Amino acid sequence: MTEPSRYRPETIEQRWQLQWEQLGLHATPEPSSDSGEPYYALSMFPYPSGSLHMGHVRNYVITDVIARAARLRGRQVLHPMGWDAFGLPAENAAIERGVDPGDWTDRNIAQMREQLKRLGLSIDWDREVATCHADYYRWTQWLFLQFLDAGLAYRKEATVNWDPIDQTVLANEQVDAEGRSWRSGAQVEKRRLRQWFLKITAYADALLDDLPSLQGWPERVRTMQANWIGRSLGAELTFTADSGAAITVFTTRPDTIYGATYVVLAPEHPLVAELTTDDCRLSVAAFCDLVARQSEQERTAEDRPKRGVPIGAWVRNPASGERIPVWIADYVLADYGTGAVMGVPAHDQRDFTFARQYELPVRRVVIPEGSDPHAYEGQAWTEGGVLIASGPFDGLSSAEAKTSIVASAEAQGWGQGRVQYRLRDWLISRQRYWGCPIPVIHCEACGVVPVPEEQLPVELPRDIPLSGKGGNPLARLESWLNVPCPRCGAPAQRETDTMDTFMCSSWYYLRYSDPHNDQRPFGRDAVDRWLPVDQYVGGIEHAILHLLYSRFFTKVLRDRGLLGFSEPFARLLTQGMVQGITYRNAHSGQYVAPAEVADPSDPRDPISGEVLEVFYEKMSKSKHNGVDPAVVIDRYGADTARMFILFKAPPEKDLEWDDADVEGQYRFLQRLWRLVDGAHGRGLRLSGPGAPPMQTLDPASFSDGEKQLRRAVHTAIAAISEDLEGELQLNTAVSELMKLSNALAAHLEGASPAVGREALATLLILLAPFAPHLAEELWQKLNGDGDGNDDDGGNGASVAAEASVHRQRWPVVDPTALVRDTIPLVIQVKGKMRGSLEVPADADAATLERLALESEVAQRWLEGQPPRRVIVVPGKLVNLVP
Ligand SMILES: [Zn+2]
Repeated sequence: MTEPSRYRPETIEQRWQLQWEQLGLHATPEPSSDSGEPYYALSMFPYPSGSLHMGHVRNYVITDVIARAARLRGRQVLHPMGWDAFGLPAENAAIERGVDPGDWTDRNIAQMREQLKRLGLSIDWDREVATCHADYYRWTQWLFLQFLDAGLAYRKEATVNWDPIDQTVLANEQVDAEGRSWRSGAQVEKRRLRQWFLKITAYADALLDDLPSLQGWPERVRTMQANWIGRSLGAELTFTADSGAAITVFTTRPDTIYGATYVVLAPEHPLVAELTTDDCRLSVAAFCDLVARQSEQERTAEDRPKRGVPIGAWVRNPASGERIPVWIADYVLADYGTGAVMGVPAHDQRDFTFARQYELPVRRVVIPEGSDPHAYEGQAWTEGGVLIASGPFDGLSSAEAKTSIVASAEAQGWGQGRVQYRLRDWLISRQRYWGCPIPVIHCEACGVVPVPEEQLPVELPRDIPLSGKGGNPLARLESWLNVPCPRCGAPAQRETDTMDTFMCSSWYYLRYSDPHNDQRPFGRDAVDRWLPVDQYVGGIEHAILHLLYSRFFTKVLRDRGLLGFSEPFARLLTQGMVQGITYRNAHSGQYVAPAEVADPSDPRDPISGEVLEVFYEKMSKSKHNGVDPAVVIDRYGADTARMFILFKAPPEKDLEWDDADVEGQYRFLQRLWRLVDGAHGRGLRLSGPGAPPMQTLDPASFSDGEKQLRRAVHTAIAAISEDLEGELQLNTAVSELMKLSNALAAHLEGASPAVGREALATLLILLAPFAPHLAEELWQKLNGDGDGNDDDGGNGASVAAEASVHRQRWPVVDPTALVRDTIPLVIQVKGKMRGSLEVPADADAATLERLALESEVAQRWLEGQPPRRVIVVPGKLVNLVP
């Protein structure tokens, strides 16, 4: 027997990382006819800030387990990584520190790449891309020209969202519900500017209609996209003024037209001036003036009072014939719908509030089915129901009435059915330097001229002075700016706007399929072979932005014949956040770092002594609640970090960091180490002279312990396979590994070498995706020559790629091993459980009765008397009634 060895991840992990790299273990396989089906496992690529945080670690570890398991299960796997590398942080760093944004970014990439490698991720680094490198953004520009050619990129003057901190415009998707920038948090202002847009609205129906096909996506993300696209079926209805002027309103509730008691125009509506009567002119002008100073968010916020004034005009309700007044109000926007709405206070909460405030009539025309019509007085009934007080439409359901009323309006010429969307075109211009230049040239004679394909990329000039003020620095760089027009040769100027970085990230997953192609962004064969991505993993914060844009890109490129599928990501997992323990002084509002809290059971402010609030919150620098991945890896190793993250919570749920649980995972891996070390010491080998072949397993000869061990082994295979296939419950997969290791600890020593070998080999292969270094180390140990010298951690002996645990085949369930030959039988006396005994699983009712009566329990409780009655429930219990 050799000395027991200790689990020392620091001596194992780096050694295997290097060997795997030398062996090319994670290289993407070339297509071949006799190999497995392709499988594409992808994490959302990071912004290269320079330091890896726990949120990244969680994201990439989840994807890595999926990728590794797919390889073991015979799939050919593409598992790449890259960098979303344009954007403002680099530019701001450059301004603050006087460094070149490109150099700053490249340094950060190098740093993060090394941090990622320490996690033992099975990434094919040969396919790495960085969106800020010319060999990538050349194709971003090429793709922009595809959009331009297709009529899907255009330039127009528009009212846009202006971020006063970042000094640039933002897309609608990048402004939150409170009207703040997604990046800087600044309150966004409105400006009129000439900007580039992509016509995502042309794909609104396609983007919406394909959502139900994404069954591998979280329901929540599909709903968010559907709401963002916001398709509403409704009608445009015309109300005619006494003067003959026609006001067209858009409504999604044509079934409520008999309840319209007024009409509201946006203050900017062109008919306001024409329709306003003399006696209202002063109040209308004052009101318009007031509204002009409000932002869109202020005007439409749910919780603000709605304000308005009548303009003196009256119109006829086209359905009821009733004369109703015309108002203007702040909550109606000129560029949404027709800039006019009908006021139906009984069935719209906003109209109800408005009508109450200005004493306008409320007329109920839809009632909940089967309910008392007066039941909802005092509030708006905004759901559908049955029509009342609606002339010929009384008694129809809301759905029927919508169709009938629109048909009637169309027949009588006062309206027609319409589809409306909330989605607006995607504004992609940015007035910042560190982005992909938009490849067009402005010529006085020819207008907008695309940069010819052979002149791509339009390189971003480097080493230019950046101040962050006074607009885009590219506009001042005359040597770059002034070029001859590609069409007529006259002096012309380059476009100085750069692209929204979401353009760069809308197609990176396509480039990984063919990253070294210098003729095209990707070849059709390669992209169709690998995509759609089988499993995409990333944060829920991209539900609308990146995930919607990528779907749009894919559909456009499909229609251009560049690829042959309609959706980029077959399955999507949105992983939860990593939360750290957070201490806050409620009085001062200040956060206190956990290291400064002397006694966590009675947390107090280290300066004032005040009791601190304790809670879990997303890790962030400002809250001092972050945990540095490097520190955890230094202390416990990457395998422990991986196991903890996977075990602590289901992937889609938030995870609370807990040092004690990290320690617990470390101890579990130590136990595994000792288990295998012990078996190794007893001479057990998986291959070589000492290893028995698998065929020697003879079910007839199994001892009870062996049967239990085999049942545990095959139960684990079945359970972990299901966890990886179905809902990706990686946390329960880890607990299955723990159960299996307990079964090994209990039964391995008494088992025959053949059964022991099956159990150990299975454990290590199942463990390999989760704790790849430890699984490899133990696998090699049990496949070694048994001289006991291979545990010094430093021998560095090279193994062939085929011998790696990561090149083995996923074990297959043996159903016979799952069969139990005995089952526990409960014995009741007068319906109360009094004991149990093991009985043959296939025993019939008569046998069960006999076994129950013979049992010690029966002897004791019946005191020798035969029972009056015996109730047998086969497979479960026997009830004896004395
Ligand atoms: Zn020209």
